[in-house]
Amino acid sequence: MTGGQPPVAEPGKPGPVGPVPPGSGWPGDTATAATPAANDAGEVRALAAAAGTLAELTARQSVCRACPRLVEWREEVARVKRKSSRTEDYWGRPVPGWGDERPRVLIVGLAPAAHGGNRTGRIFTGDRSGDVLFASLYRCGFAAIPTSVSASDTQRLIGARMAAAVRCAPPVNKPSVTERDTCAPWLLAELRLVTAPLGVIVCLGGFAWDAAWTSLRSAGFALPRPKPRFGHGAEVTLAVPAGYGGGELLLLGCYHPSQQNTFTGRVTPAMLDDVFTRARAWADDGRQSTNT
Ligand code: SF4
Repeated sequence: MTGGQPPVAEPGKPGPVGPVPPGSGWPGDTATAATPAANDAGEVRALAAAAGTLAELTARQSVCRACPRLVEWREEVARVKRKSSRTEDYWGRPVPGWGDERPRVLIVGLAPAAHGGNRTGRIFTGDRSGDVLFASLYRCGFAAIPTSVSASDTQRLIGARMAAAVRCAPPVNKPSVTERDTCAPWLLAELRLVTAPLGVIVCLGGFAWDAAWTSLRSAGFALPRPKPRFGHGAEVTLAVPAGYGGGELLLLGCYHPSQQNTFTGRVTPAMLDDVFTRARAWADDGRQSTNT
């Protein structure tokens, strides 16, 4: 596989069997055949901690095989595919963090969708949740275009970055506690590499809120007790340790734009816009960092 476009099989015939080999030309793939893959929780910790750059980190994230159940599921989905996508290649690998390398806003989600990120290889890309989310990010100035449909489109995040708390698509969108904990060092390492200019973390849903909290604690942030409850619009202001650039960081809660939440009206485009408008205001003016 070469070039900038995900390959598409002859019309009417099934596409090549997933998952996509590292370094085989998928747009945005930072991994190569030589990228080391973690095979258990200890190796995730070691490889995440030793990553010196975001490119190295995302490459390692994208070839991880530490959670046997999720590896089996993501690859099975990539082989079987859904009917409407049967002529496409599926990514079928962990979906790494994506976006601005010096973001002011980090958006943390739950996990890739089986036929969304697991298909396209880019977080929140190619599914209904992403349709709603990217439209809001575009309205609020964080995305270059209002849609995100494939890793080869022209979408780009502006001053923002996205990461999932669990980077492989889980069956019925429910990772286990062990899988959540195994994946946590990838988020911690991403925080380490992007925190200097960062002003806001937007957590899409309670799972992401908890995951961000765990990573911030591991990073040495002084966190209030008890932990503030997640809610839409919930806010916590945290002092950023000097080693992470100093100043203040805003943790911001937002209901996840899942299909269920958007269909039922639990979260609306206007509610998302409110959160990202708040994030923008804080990122533009709110943080008094000593080292940005
Ligand atoms: S969920 Fe995270 S830790 Fe588990 S295999 Fe995927 S990337 Fe690795």
